[in-house]
Amino acid sequence: MEQLKNFIGGEFVAPNEGKYLDKISPMTAQKIYELPDSSEVDVVLAIKAAQGAFSEWSEKKAVERSQILNRVADLIDQHREALARAESEDVGKPLDLSRTLDIPRAALNFRFFASAILHKHEMASDMDGEAINYVLRQPVGVAGLISPWNLPLYLLTWKIAPALACGNTVVCKPSEWTSKTAFMLGSLLNEAGVPKGVVNMVFGKGDPAGAYLVKHPGVPLISFTGGTATGEKIQTLAAPYVKKLSLELGGKNATIVMKDADLAKVIPQIARASFLNQGEICLCGSKILVQEDIYKEFTEQFVKHVESLVVGDPMDSKTFMGPIVSKTQYDKVLSLLEVAKKDGGKVLTGGVRPELPAAFKDGYFLRPTVIGDLTNCSEIHQTEIFGPVVTLNSFKYAHEAVKWANNSPYGLSASVWTKNLNQAHKIAADLRVGTVWVNTWLKRDLRMPFGGAKASGLGREGGEHSLDFFTETKTVCIQL
Ligand code: NAD
Repeated sequence: MEQLKNFIGGEFVAPNEGKYLDKISPMTAQKIYELPDSSEVDVVLAIKAAQGAFSEWSEKKAVERSQILNRVADLIDQHREALARAESEDVGKPLDLSRTLDIPRAALNFRFFASAILHKHEMASDMDGEAINYVLRQPVGVAGLISPWNLPLYLLTWKIAPALACGNTVVCKPSEWTSKTAFMLGSLLNEAGVPKGVVNMVFGKGDPAGAYLVKHPGVPLISFTGGTATGEKIQTLAAPYVKKLSLELGGKNATIVMKDADLAKVIPQIARASFLNQGEICLCGSKILVQEDIYKEFTEQFVKHVESLVVGDPMDSKTFMGPIVSKTQYDKVLSLLEVAKKDGGKVLTGGVRPELPAAFKDGYFLRPTVIGDLTNCSEIHQTEIFGPVVTLNSFKYAHEAVKWANNSPYGLSASVWTKNLNQAHKIAADLRVGTVWVNTWLKRDLRMPFGGAKASGLGREGGEHSLDFFTETKTVCIQL
């Protein structure tokens, strides 16, 4: 049985206490490899390695760092197929999705920040000839990067690339449910010439491994993506050290469909926004609000489309949805489905396991599920399900849809589907979220700020925002 190792100081090392966790396949419920169950000692070793590598890396010229990051991107592209297979086996996501979204995006993250760091410039100001001020941007030190399981390499590299571009060294704690591609990245970093100790990976549970990383005084910056409850714990753990924190957290995102939307065109896109990656994307629209004039027609056509989506073997090119990532997540989704039914929700389609070959009989598969008639006061409208389950409700006026959409502790994203752009601008302005898509979904321009309002996060990443977060700003004032 394959055993992953931690990646510390450019070497693959066994966890200090010799303990391992089982990785269970979401397709078969069988163990497929073991990963380190790292302890405080492993985390401290990784931090020391990152501290040791800091001077060499931070003193490199930006152009040298940029060349190395571009080499990492090239190597990710060269190993795209192996990385995509590993990602799909770990998460259960369709191989085509890993090939076309997850892995190319991981390469793009490195390329984008390799370029961004060459174009960054700072301001200076003249105080009427008395003094001049200028700004220096310097790396912060060792960055702690903690990532979730749904887009493993995509989201981890979204943190590693800007952190390195800005001259920091890093210690990563990938999700214990999906550690494989982060482990594979270690060899590619060595091959690309990333100096030893610049990137370190410690595998294992959120607590202790992630928590030690957050608490360690030698790590002045934490970039975290994951659930809101974990984000709250991280804020508490980091508070005594006054660390720089970026928190990308959960979402309960509304999809608002106005009566003038072209249903034939938008329904496949709304189904994609609901169920891509098994509905396990923080940005998936799980609360669909449809203007009452077209509610009946929309419901019939949407349900028909959802019933045509193929659920099954992620390695089969016809598959749109694979299994849910783990038994824990599967049970959570099923229990929330029960809450929806108890609150009067009617299962319009799904809610059951698909018919699959015997090899997948124990896998965590669920048909994409659409719930109608759920009352406004159900907790399901407030809670992030993070699986293939959406609700459908109707509204009369646009301001009602906005009120429904905003009626949640979360504020990550929303999408609006209409031909009336004046109306779309007004709705977009009134939604309390970090991103609004109009007539599209999941389109990401890496130069734009990304993050959540309310319980969906703290801070923004993307373009200049990432470069700001991963550097310390210093103003120098010179008397003339
Ligand atoms: P999670 O919060 O359970 O875990 C995320 C990471 O935090 C994992 O690596 C985990 O090991 C670690 N962790 C857990 N407890 C910790 C602790 N006490 N201290 C330090 N680290 C700890 O989240 P998840 O289940 O892996 O991911 C799903 C969640 O992530 C969903 O809520 C989803 O919306 C959110 N998410 C948000 C974004 C975004 O950009 N806003 C993107 C993807 C996922």
